[in-house]
Amino acid sequence: MPATPPPASEHPTSPAPRGGGTEPTSGRHRVVVIGGGSAGISVAARLHRAGVTGIALVEPSDTHWYQPLWTLVGGGQAPLRTSRRPEGSLIPDGVRWIRGRALGVDPEARTVNLADGAVLAYEHLVMAPGLQLDWDGVPGLAEAVGHDRVSSNYSPEYAPRTWELIRRMRSGTAVFTHPATPLKCGGAPQKIAYLAADHWRRQKVLDDIRVVLVVPDQTLFKVPAWSEVLQRVAERYGIEVRLRSEMTAVDGGAREITVTDHATGTAQTIGYDLLHAVPPQRAPDWVAASPLADPASPQGFVAADQYTLQHPTHHDVFAIGDVAHLPTSKTGAAIRKQAPVVTGNLLDVMNGRAPSHHYDGYTSCPLVTARDRMLLAEFDYDLRPAPTFPLLDPFKERRSMWLFKRYALPRVYWHGMLRGRL
Ligand code: FAD
Repeated sequence: MPATPPPASEHPTSPAPRGGGTEPTSGRHRVVVIGGGSAGISVAARLHRAGVTGIALVEPSDTHWYQPLWTLVGGGQAPLRTSRRPEGSLIPDGVRWIRGRALGVDPEARTVNLADGAVLAYEHLVMAPGLQLDWDGVPGLAEAVGHDRVSSNYSPEYAPRTWELIRRMRSGTAVFTHPATPLKCGGAPQKIAYLAADHWRRQKVLDDIRVVLVVPDQTLFKVPAWSEVLQRVAERYGIEVRLRSEMTAVDGGAREITVTDHATGTAQTIGYDLLHAVPPQRAPDWVAASPLADPASPQGFVAADQYTLQHPTHHDVFAIGDVAHLPTSKTGAAIRKQAPVVTGNLLDVMNGRAPSHHYDGYTSCPLVTARDRMLLAEFDYDLRPAPTFPLLDPFKERRSMWLFKRYALPRVYWHGMLRGRL
């Protein structure tokens, strides 16, 4: 039976006492998980399967999104509705859904403050609230996105619009940007450029469209062998790649962006007829302001040991997913490998043992390079390839991999990962 959200009045918490106190008046939860996205649901499901009781999951939204599909939504290859499920259908039976928004954590008192004034007490805490998209991080972007031929696959509100813009375009300039901050799915800003260019090639209009890809790094991908393949893909479509460059302003009315070249420090204005923009990304404000934030993370992500995912000073706290400050790419695939580590280490700590499970930094980027081709880039902290299919050359674009992303991975996600099975 799917879990149902309790009405606000039935929260297993009580309002904070007047005067700013944070003493909970109900009992302590064995585990509180903040966030019911890919990471939070995966850990809650695994803990539940391991027999842990007293789990509370804090999640304000009644919709859960499978975000990796949004690239294909923007590319006209999947309907948006297939990326959406009711949150209540995914919360494991027996896990208490607290339909609220966390606003603060006091790791000394081991309490979480919610937006409605309630205070939750925990024995162990899993931080999984994801990251926030900083649309205001580029002047003019917040005003332009959703209008002025500007779209972004990073929001379900706009991803279908990306395809509308691509489909209608017959000539002009199309610009695809990548922010200079850490971001979820580092490949997504360029995958949509390849899907668009391949569509225009098939429509025989690619010669009339200037495609510009703006990337802040020195290379197209941080693992050199995949970067070389992607360089050839970009050349195949005639894409103008601007490395070490960043979009620093948008003028939606004039349909112009400013691109700053970090190598030379010069800024240039580029006119566009289509702009696919990926906003800068950072930790939610309340996370960045909390004692759990890593002082070494300029974006305020949560401190975590890169192998055990345990907070370095508050040992009853673990971080997982996009909110964790880890030297690897933020992806759902990474979470699939992090979830068993967090669960195993939580069980260790609950039983008075030191964490014994280690995460090796595995992450994966399904690099869609054409409307029927994909490269599956999988690697660890040392940027060593970590292929799921060791017999296949991972540097070759394959139709089988595209089919894997479109049809197999969503099933693995809904029926395996979120059920705590895979
Ligand atoms: P999320 O899934 O974002 O979940 C965070 C949850 O926390 C949300 O449900 C939110 O409502 C909740 N929350 C937020 N604030 C609070 C609060 N204050 N209190 C309580 N709850 C809160 N990954 C891949 O592996 N492969 C891909 O091909 C891929 N492609 C992608 C393409 C795009 C366009 C995008 C946007 C992402 C892609 N990803 C991909 C990345 C992947 O989707 C994310 O890394 C993953 O969803 C992160 O999971 P999470 O649980 O950390 O965060």
